[in-house]
This record gives sequence, C-alpha cells and structure tokens, in this order.
Amino acid sequence: MNLHEPRLPGNLASRKRMFQRRLLAWYTRNRRNLPWRRDRDPYRVWLSEIMLQQTRVAAVVDHYQRFLQRFPAIERLARARESSVLAAWSGLGYYRRARMLHAAAKEIVRQHEGKFPENVAGLRELPGIGRYTAAAIASISFGVPVALVDGNVERVLERFEGKCLPGEAVWETAEELLSRSRPGDFNQAMMELGATVCLPRQPLCTVCPVRELCATRGELTQPAGEVRQKREIHYALDRQDGTVLLVQRPKDASLMPGMWELPEIAAPQPTPAQSDGRLTLRHSITVTDFVVTVEQRPAPEATGGRRVQSRRIHTLPLTGLARKILRAAKII
Ligand code: SF4
Repeated sequence: MNLHEPRLPGNLASRKRMFQRRLLAWYTRNRRNLPWRRDRDPYRVWLSEIMLQQTRVAAVVDHYQRFLQRFPAIERLARARESSVLAAWSGLGYYRRARMLHAAAKEIVRQHEGKFPENVAGLRELPGIGRYTAAAIASISFGVPVALVDGNVERVLERFEGKCLPGEAVWETAEELLSRSRPGDFNQAMMELGATVCLPRQPLCTVCPVRELCATRGELTQPAGEVRQKREIHYALDRQDGTVLLVQRPKDASLMPGMWELPEIAAPQPTPAQSDGRLTLRHSITVTDFVVTVEQRPAPEATGGRRVQSRRIHTLPLTGLARKILRAAKII
C-alpha cells in the first residue's frame, strides 16, 4: 500500500476498534517467545518488568532465568540475604531495582501472605512499583483494564497521532485506545510493536499492522536528543597469589551503594613498558560514555579494600563495570 494515502475514514469509535483488532491479531501471530510470557504469574511478570527497565531484552533473558532458578518463588526471595539478591542481580546494573525488589518481596510475604495485591492502588504501595509497573502487573496478571506507557508505547502513540503527547496526554491516549477485554495482551502488543516494528529510527511501516490508521507512517520530527558526555576513568587490577584487590563503594553512595569494584587510580603515564598489562574498554552509564583503562599493577597503598580469592569473586555483588573488566581479564 502507499504509505501516503490518507488515514482510513470512519468515526473515532470504529477506528479504535479497528486499531485494537489489528494490533491484537498481529501480536498473536508475531510475538516473541520470551520466557516471562509463558504464564501470567505476577511474581514472574513483576520480575521481568523490573529487569526490563533500562535493560535490553537480550540481556535480561539469561539473568531472568538464572534469578528464577535461585529464587523460584517470592517466599525464597523474601527470605534471602540482600548480598545474595545483589549477587544474583549482578550484571544488570541499576542495583536500586534489586534492593526495591527485595523490599517489596518481604512486604508481600509479611503483609499480604505472599499474594500480590490485585489492583493498581495496592500494587503502587509496594516499594519500587510505580505507575508503569503497577499497570503492567495488574493488566497482564489480573486482567485489570488499565493502560501503560513506556518509551516504546509513547513513541508508537505519538507517531500514530502525529503529534507530541506531553505528560498526562500520552497516558490518556493509551487509556482511550486500550482494549478492555484483553488489556494485558493489548499492553504487551503496544510494547512489542514499539520494540520490533515502530523502531526509534527507520520504523518498519510497510509491515505495521496499524499503518492504515497511522497519522505519521514514519519518524515524527523530534527536537535534538540529549547530548552524551565522554569521560575517561582508570582502575588498577591488583592481583596477588590468586586474589584480586577489590573495594566496596560506600553504603551511602548515591550510585550502586555497597557494591564491589576495582580501585580507581589517577591517569597512568603512557609508557611502552606498561602497555603490556593495560586493558582498554568502553562502558556507558545513562548519558555518559566512559573510556576505561585498566592497569595491571599494585594499587596505591592508601587504597584499603579487600583481597578476594578469584574463585570467590562471583559471590560478591559487583558493579556492572567491575564485572565487565574481570571478564575481559578472564578472571571470572
Ligand atoms: S505506521 Fe509506522 S510510524 Fe505508524 S505506528 Fe506503524 S510503524 Fe509506527
């Protein structure tokens, strides 16, 4: 079809019905076979939604399955020590999510006899569960007719409507289009469409199930995106007798409190002799792109920290960057 044809005529109600029908039929045929879609158990839905915040699907799949093997039910998670939960979360980053998950599990077990509240208001009272996650659990696990908006859904809706939908407007539009008979599938279908068809760059409009109803059929012109920052950072990889020196971040640090990492050092001098034991890698956190240099050498005396046997390192909650460095150095 010609993507520049006008949108299908019809009143709002009939276009809405058509949108729901086409989207849901497409989702039934095309949805990815992801492990958290195998049932609607709220513990599994919740875990996957928290893991998927700020993390790509491909990176979550393995972690999700391993986390469930370790904590197959909410009672096991509630009983676990925080260090075990953080160790199981290691590699996913944004550790505040893991702490909140643990706190919410304890609250569900203590105050709700291990059962999730089945409505949005009850879910939102739990630690770490905001508007989006509450709507996801309520609609997918309990069939509550409530819409949700994440980055993918927002992009689909703005292109579909052909305009920016600031603040509450995007939630209202999502609510307006929601299928009340299949809210969980509808919400997942919207996210799936954004993740696989209505892509941030070069959306695949020719295969889009709602193209005939869409106002934009392409990228909506947006203001320039956020400017990324560049930084260099340097670490010492101090190995001795099968151990590695690691330091723990302060418990009150705003980022990754209590996690373990390599000692940070000042910029090393670029000498040919040192470059044999030097590793360079790239790492991105939110809007900053780091160039990371790791020197294999003793850490400065005042570093403090603890020597950890290489084979025990995996039991500690490591920062994502420390894990990446230790993997690159073939220590874990
Ligand atoms: S037609 Fe294109 S822009 Fe519109 S919703 Fe589909 S993929 Fe997105």
